[in-house]
Amino acid sequence: MVSFYPGPSAVYPEIAAYTQEAIQSGIISSNHRSGPFVDLCQKVISELQRVLEVPKDYTVFFTSSATECWEILAQSLIENQSLHVYNGAFGRRWKEVTEKIGCSTQALVFDKETLPSLPFEKSIDTSWIALTHTETSNGTALPVEWMRTCRKTYPEAIIAVDATSSLNGVYLPIDQADIWYASVQKCFGLPSGLGVMICSPKVREVAYRLGENKHYNSLINAYEMMDKFQTTHTPNILGIYLLYRTLQQSLPVREREKNLLQRAEDWYRFFETQKGDFQLLVTNETVRAATVIAIQGPEDRVADIKKRAFDAGFVLGNGYKEYAKTTFRIANFPAIEPKDILHLKDFLSPILSK
Ligand SMILES: *Cc1c(COP(=O)(O)O)cnc(C)c1O
Repeated sequence: MVSFYPGPSAVYPEIAAYTQEAIQSGIISSNHRSGPFVDLCQKVISELQRVLEVPKDYTVFFTSSATECWEILAQSLIENQSLHVYNGAFGRRWKEVTEKIGCSTQALVFDKETLPSLPFEKSIDTSWIALTHTETSNGTALPVEWMRTCRKTYPEAIIAVDATSSLNGVYLPIDQADIWYASVQKCFGLPSGLGVMICSPKVREVAYRLGENKHYNSLINAYEMMDKFQTTHTPNILGIYLLYRTLQQSLPVREREKNLLQRAEDWYRFFETQKGDFQLLVTNETVRAATVIAIQGPEDRVADIKKRAFDAGFVLGNGYKEYAKTTFRIANFPAIEPKDILHLKDFLSPILSK
């Protein structure tokens, strides 16, 4: 089976060997306060700095998932209210989780074919801005230029970015926002159960000023431990080891992304040139995501294509929430192999054109 699901998705083929290494070397049985773990933690952070261009004064945290990052931020970092700028289900979910934790939130919902126009309306509180870089549910993304304009427009704001299905897949301007986070089962090509959260020096200041300390994963506890390259709780050491080993073999994302962007371009052309009932969900090229492609079609045909693909050994991504029945999704994550993409295209062509 080859998975094109946008998370969990295909993992790098080397994961099997790295897992064995983690067991044989004893790292997964090391105490998380011990030298070997601290050393691993230090090394994986320098690999993240190299590969993702994380500025040296940003702090990296390990969490269990992107969902946990939503909670940590709501617990420890939102002072007055957060503004959630989104066009789909993951952005909406972040807002809902934040509200449940007890924060007041505001929504700025935009159409999936457009970009939110900057500056936002004057009446909106822009002290804390939550953005979803790639909206995995509909296959849209915020261009790097838009991120830069947002930073320039709101230099004082805390800008937090859910980059779960793009971090480590495409280049992201880490210095243009205060918080970036992702789970590793998307563009890192790793098994699920680990999240990475990257925070600017401003985040440390705000976290300590607020001093929220009620949860095992409260941000000031995490800072206190990470200053010693440790975590508040026993982390996913295997996941951290696999992250380290895959990053160690990786070129900087800025060099790697050309290949991924070309693959995305090829996928989009592939679907654009099909004559049948299926179309790309997103028509505006400038907002199309490079890492997740959503294809729209009649319900019966969407169900049929997913089933036939499964029988042929391909897992296509289901549609998500409002698009559950009328779309399917294809992950364009780095760990997916070119030969599998060719096979899937060969399989899809005759079905799509009917
Ligand atoms: C997958 C995804 C999440 C949720 O990730 P978990 O690992 O399940 O917490 C959140 N946001 C976006 C944009 C995603 O694609």
